[in-house]
Amino acid sequence: MVQSKQLLNFSTLKHYFLEKNDNEFSILSDSIIANCIRLEQTHSNNVVIANKNIKYYKSTDGIVINFESYISIRTADCLPIFLYDSKKNVLAGIHAGWKGLYRNIIGNTVKVMRNLGCNALDIRSAIGPHIRSCCYKITDEFLELFRNYNNENIHLIKKNGTNKFFDLEKLASFQMTELGVLKKNIDIIPYCTSCDSRFCSYRKNGANCGRMLNIAGIV
Ligand SMILES: [Zn+2]
Repeated sequence: MVQSKQLLNFSTLKHYFLEKNDNEFSILSDSIIANCIRLEQTHSNNVVIANKNIKYYKSTDGIVINFESYISIRTADCLPIFLYDSKKNVLAGIHAGWKGLYRNIIGNTVKVMRNLGCNALDIRSAIGPHIRSCCYKITDEFLELFRNYNNENIHLIKKNGTNKFFDLEKLASFQMTELGVLKKNIDIIPYCTSCDSRFCSYRKNGANCGRMLNIAGIV
């Protein structure tokens, strides 16, 4: 299990980025597992404010809660992201692969938090284990989709010979900072799901690679 030092600062928040071989039943209590809010996760940019009585949301990749409950995000290479405003006690969970980032799931989520009264300056964020630029090889067609971001200041692309690699976490961070989240308040867990065997990798091992649970909750 991996945790963000930054999110551990808050007594009102609990979070867990589980590894592939972690036993969720030994790490999480039965009540967390039973009561977690779950998302269908379709690489959409759909964000919802959770309703206390609804535990499952179809075609949703971002969820915001402002009451005591837990959120579950499943990933294998995609970015699991939690955002927390301790002043307003508002928590968001995001599932973001390249499609979600392209469709601005992060921006949509931060906007929903702001609509609930959050100030971006108070938001602390953690990006859990995901495929990093050491392994995320991409094509020129892919790059074309992100040409608007392709400037000197962001450095989303790394080159190794003729191969090009993309930096998803840098794009995610940039999208958060565009909406006022401070860079110093974004904690990136520095493990790559593709080259670190503790994690599930869709790219490396295919659709049957399994999924990791990323859990966060207001307590
Ligand atoms: Zn890697």
